[in-house]
Amino acid sequence: MNVFYDLHLHSCLSPCADDDMTPGSICAMAKLAGLQAVALTDHNTCGNVRAFCAQAEAQGLIGVPGMELTTREEIHVVCLFPACGEAEDFSRYVYQRLPDIPNKPHIFGSQILIGEDDSPVGGEPRLLFGATEIGVYETAALAARFGGFAFPAHIDRGAFSLLAVLGLWDPALGFTLTERAGSPLPYIVNSDAHHLGGIPDAERVLKITAPTAQGVIDALKAL
Ligand SMILES: [Zn+2]
Ligand SMILES: [Zn+2]
Repeated sequence: MNVFYDLHLHSCLSPCADDDMTPGSICAMAKLAGLQAVALTDHNTCGNVRAFCAQAEAQGLIGVPGMELTTREEIHVVCLFPACGEAEDFSRYVYQRLPDIPNKPHIFGSQILIGEDDSPVGGEPRLLFGATEIGVYETAALAARFGGFAFPAHIDRGAFSLLAVLGLWDPALGFTLTERAGSPLPYIVNSDAHHLGGIPDAERVLKITAPTAQGVIDALKAL
Protein backbone atom coordinates (compact mmCIF):
# COMPACT_ATOMS: atom_id res chain seq x y z
CA MET A 1 0.00 0.00 0.00
CA ASN A 2 1.07 3.60 -0.63
CA VAL A 3 0.92 6.04 2.28
CA PHE A 4 1.41 9.77 2.48
CA TYR A 5 4.18 10.40 4.99
CA ASP A 6 5.98 13.00 7.05
CA LEU A 7 8.72 11.43 9.12
CA HIS A 8 10.36 14.46 10.72
CA LEU A 9 8.16 16.42 13.14
CA HIS A 10 8.92 18.22 16.42
CA SER A 11 6.68 18.42 19.47
CA CYS A 12 6.65 20.93 22.33
CA LEU A 13 9.44 18.90 23.95
CA SER A 14 11.88 20.40 21.44
CA PRO A 15 12.87 23.81 22.80
CA CYS A 16 12.64 25.41 19.35
CA ALA A 17 9.10 24.06 18.65
CA ASP A 18 5.87 25.86 19.53
CA ASP A 19 4.25 24.99 22.86
CA ASP A 20 1.00 24.04 21.08
CA MET A 21 2.79 21.26 19.17
CA THR A 22 1.33 18.62 21.44
CA PRO A 23 1.21 15.08 20.06
CA GLY A 24 -2.58 15.32 19.87
CA SER A 25 -2.50 18.59 17.94
CA ILE A 26 0.19 17.31 15.58
CA CYS A 27 -1.78 14.14 14.82
CA ALA A 28 -5.06 16.01 14.36
CA MET A 29 -3.35 18.41 11.95
CA ALA A 30 -1.60 15.54 10.14
CA LYS A 31 -4.93 13.80 9.70
CA LEU A 32 -6.49 16.98 8.30
CA ALA A 33 -3.55 17.32 5.92
CA GLY A 34 -4.18 13.82 4.60
CA LEU A 35 -1.00 12.28 5.99
CA GLN A 36 -1.06 8.58 6.90
CA ALA A 37 2.37 7.83 8.41
CA VAL A 38 3.97 10.33 10.77
CA ALA A 39 7.08 10.26 12.97
CA LEU A 40 7.89 12.29 16.04
CA THR A 41 11.56 13.31 16.04
CA ASP A 42 12.36 15.68 18.89
CA HIS A 43 15.93 16.81 19.47
CA ASN A 44 17.90 14.19 21.39
CA THR A 45 14.85 12.72 23.15
CA CYS A 46 12.00 10.28 22.69
CA GLY A 47 10.21 11.62 25.77
CA ASN A 48 6.94 12.30 23.93
CA VAL A 49 6.83 9.32 21.58
CA ARG A 50 4.48 7.26 23.75
CA ALA A 51 1.93 10.06 23.80
CA PHE A 52 2.49 10.61 20.09
CA CYS A 53 1.92 6.99 19.11
CA ALA A 54 -1.25 6.86 21.24
CA GLN A 55 -2.57 9.99 19.54
CA ALA A 56 -1.60 8.72 16.11
CA GLU A 57 -3.46 5.49 16.71
CA ALA A 58 -6.52 7.43 17.89
CA GLN A 59 -6.46 9.34 14.59
CA GLY A 60 -6.00 6.19 12.53
CA LEU A 61 -2.45 7.16 11.57
CA ILE A 62 0.71 5.05 11.56
CA GLY A 63 2.79 6.61 14.34
CA VAL A 64 6.55 6.10 14.20
CA PRO A 65 8.59 6.83 17.34
CA GLY A 66 11.82 8.65 16.59
CA MET A 67 14.44 11.22 17.46
CA GLU A 68 16.53 13.85 15.71
CA LEU A 69 19.96 13.14 17.13
CA THR A 70 22.64 15.86 17.24
CA THR A 71 25.99 14.17 16.75
CA ARG A 72 29.29 15.29 18.27
CA GLU A 73 30.02 17.08 14.97
CA GLU A 74 26.68 18.98 15.21
CA ILE A 75 25.12 16.97 12.41
CA HIS A 76 21.40 16.20 12.70
CA VAL A 77 20.41 12.58 12.07
CA VAL A 78 16.83 11.30 12.11
CA CYS A 79 16.50 7.95 13.92
CA LEU A 80 13.25 5.94 13.67
CA PHE A 81 12.23 2.90 15.73
CA PRO A 82 9.69 0.08 15.38
CA ALA A 83 8.15 0.65 18.82
CA CYS A 84 8.15 3.03 21.78
CA GLY A 85 10.15 0.66 24.00
CA GLU A 86 13.11 0.59 21.63
CA ALA A 87 12.88 4.34 21.11
CA GLU A 88 12.87 4.99 24.86
CA ASP A 89 15.86 2.68 25.37
CA PHE A 90 17.72 4.62 22.69
CA SER A 91 16.64 7.87 24.35
CA ARG A 92 18.13 6.79 27.68
CA TYR A 93 21.39 5.89 25.92
CA VAL A 94 21.52 9.31 24.27
CA TYR A 95 20.64 11.16 27.49
CA GLN A 96 23.74 9.72 29.14
CA ARG A 97 25.77 11.27 26.33
CA LEU A 98 24.08 14.67 26.36
CA PRO A 99 25.86 17.51 28.23
CA ASP A 100 24.21 18.36 31.53
CA ILE A 101 23.43 21.95 30.65
CA PRO A 102 20.21 23.30 32.18
CA ASN A 103 17.60 24.65 29.80
CA LYS A 104 16.77 28.33 30.11
CA PRO A 105 13.18 28.34 28.84
CA HIS A 106 13.06 32.16 28.51
CA ILE A 107 16.00 31.96 26.08
CA PHE A 108 15.77 28.55 24.36
CA GLY A 109 12.06 27.76 24.79
CA SER A 110 10.21 25.34 27.03
CA GLN A 111 10.60 21.55 26.82
CA ILE A 112 7.18 20.13 27.70
CA LEU A 113 6.61 16.45 28.42
CA ILE A 114 3.13 15.26 27.42
CA GLY A 115 1.08 12.36 28.79
CA GLU A 116 -1.05 9.98 26.75
CA ASP A 117 -4.13 12.18 27.36
CA ASP A 118 -2.24 14.99 25.57
CA SER A 119 -1.85 17.21 28.65
CA PRO A 120 1.49 18.36 30.14
CA VAL A 121 3.01 16.09 32.77
CA GLY A 122 6.25 17.98 33.35
CA GLY A 123 9.26 19.57 31.73
CA GLU A 124 12.71 18.35 30.73
CA PRO A 125 15.28 20.34 32.77
CA ARG A 126 18.35 19.53 30.62
CA LEU A 127 18.82 21.48 27.41
CA LEU A 128 18.02 19.03 24.63
CA PHE A 129 19.34 20.90 21.64
CA GLY A 130 23.11 20.54 22.12
CA ALA A 131 25.60 18.13 20.59
CA THR A 132 25.80 14.67 22.14
CA GLU A 133 29.03 12.68 22.47
CA ILE A 134 27.87 10.32 19.70
CA GLY A 135 29.90 10.57 16.49
CA VAL A 136 28.20 10.60 13.09
CA TYR A 137 30.20 7.56 11.92
CA GLU A 138 28.68 5.41 14.69
CA THR A 139 25.09 6.62 14.29
CA ALA A 140 23.73 4.24 11.64
CA ALA A 141 25.01 1.14 13.45
CA LEU A 142 23.92 2.49 16.83
CA ALA A 143 20.32 3.06 15.71
CA ALA A 144 20.29 -0.43 14.18
CA ARG A 145 21.44 -1.87 17.51
CA PHE A 146 18.19 -0.54 19.01
CA GLY A 147 16.17 -1.98 16.13
CA GLY A 148 15.99 1.38 14.39
CA PHE A 149 17.00 3.10 11.18
CA ALA A 150 18.90 6.37 10.76
CA PHE A 151 19.30 8.86 7.93
CA PRO A 152 21.00 12.28 7.91
CA ALA A 153 18.53 15.17 8.17
CA HIS A 154 18.14 18.11 5.75
CA ILE A 155 21.52 17.48 4.11
CA ASP A 156 21.09 20.45 1.79
CA ARG A 157 20.93 22.95 4.65
CA GLY A 158 23.76 25.30 5.60
CA ALA A 159 23.85 24.33 9.28
CA PHE A 160 23.51 21.14 11.33
CA SER A 161 23.67 19.10 8.14
CA LEU A 162 26.05 16.38 7.06
CA LEU A 163 27.20 18.12 3.89
CA ALA A 164 27.62 21.50 5.61
CA VAL A 165 29.76 20.00 8.39
CA LEU A 166 31.74 17.27 6.60
CA GLY A 167 31.72 18.91 3.17
CA LEU A 168 31.53 15.57 1.39
CA TRP A 169 29.68 12.30 1.17
CA ASP A 170 31.58 9.36 2.67
CA PRO A 171 30.21 5.84 2.03
CA ALA A 172 31.86 4.73 5.30
CA LEU A 173 29.13 6.65 7.15
CA GLY A 174 26.91 3.63 6.62
CA PHE A 175 23.77 5.53 5.64
CA THR A 176 21.62 4.22 2.80
CA LEU A 177 19.10 7.06 2.62
CA THR A 178 19.11 10.82 3.13
CA GLU A 179 16.59 13.57 3.69
CA ARG A 180 16.43 15.75 0.58
CA ALA A 181 18.59 15.55 -2.51
CA GLY A 182 22.32 16.21 -2.53
CA SER A 183 24.03 12.86 -2.14
CA PRO A 184 24.38 9.81 -4.38
CA LEU A 185 21.79 8.03 -2.23
CA PRO A 186 18.01 7.78 -2.49
CA TYR A 187 16.21 10.42 -0.46
CA ILE A 188 12.89 11.26 1.12
CA VAL A 189 11.40 14.67 1.86
CA ASN A 190 9.97 15.59 5.27
CA SER A 191 8.70 18.88 6.68
CA ASP A 192 10.81 19.23 9.88
CA ALA A 193 7.75 21.13 11.18
CA HIS A 194 8.22 23.03 14.45
CA HIS A 195 4.77 24.67 14.38
CA LEU A 196 1.31 23.45 13.41
CA GLY A 197 1.24 25.55 10.24
CA GLY A 198 4.43 23.84 9.10
CA ILE A 199 2.74 20.48 8.71
CA PRO A 200 2.34 20.15 4.94
CA ASP A 201 -0.52 18.81 2.89
CA ALA A 202 -0.07 15.17 1.90
CA GLU A 203 2.19 14.98 -1.12
CA ARG A 204 5.01 12.46 -0.69
CA VAL A 205 4.22 8.78 -0.95
CA LEU A 206 5.97 5.74 0.51
CA LYS A 207 5.14 2.17 -0.47
CA ILE A 208 4.84 0.00 2.61
CA THR A 209 3.98 -3.66 3.05
CA ALA A 210 2.59 -3.42 6.61
CA PRO A 211 0.74 -0.47 8.24
CA THR A 212 3.08 -0.29 11.22
CA ALA A 213 6.20 1.61 12.32
CA GLN A 214 8.23 -1.48 11.39
CA GLY A 215 6.55 -1.47 7.98
CA VAL A 216 7.64 2.14 7.45
CA ILE A 217 11.21 1.35 8.52
CA ASP A 218 11.32 -1.68 6.23
CA ALA A 219 10.14 0.48 3.34
CA LEU A 220 12.87 3.07 4.02
CA LYS A 221 15.51 0.35 4.16
CA ALA A 222 14.31 -0.94 0.78
CA LEU A 223 14.59 2.43 -1.01
ZN1 LIG B 1 17.56 19.46 12.23
ZN1 LIG C 1 14.21 18.74 12.95
